[in-house]
Amino acid sequence: MVLALASASILFRDFLEGLFVVAIGSMLIHAAFRLVTGRTKPYRCPECNKLTSRGYANCRHCGSSITD
Ligand SMILES: [Zn+2]
Repeated sequence: MVLALASASILFRDFLEGLFVVAIGSMLIHAAFRLVTGRTKPYRCPECNKLTSRGYANCRHCGSSITD
């Protein structure tokens, strides 16, 4: 009984560790992917020189279109 409980808790711990590793791994892959695609990089608007994001089609401040 005690042995069964102990092995069950070890299995549960391994399961939690596996979940944790998968969660951290997917977070890291996601962050790396966003860095590569440049979405998290701040982008300065060429028109008004304020920081905006490439996630928007137009500058949040002056409304000029954001192009590469
Ligand atoms: Zn602007």
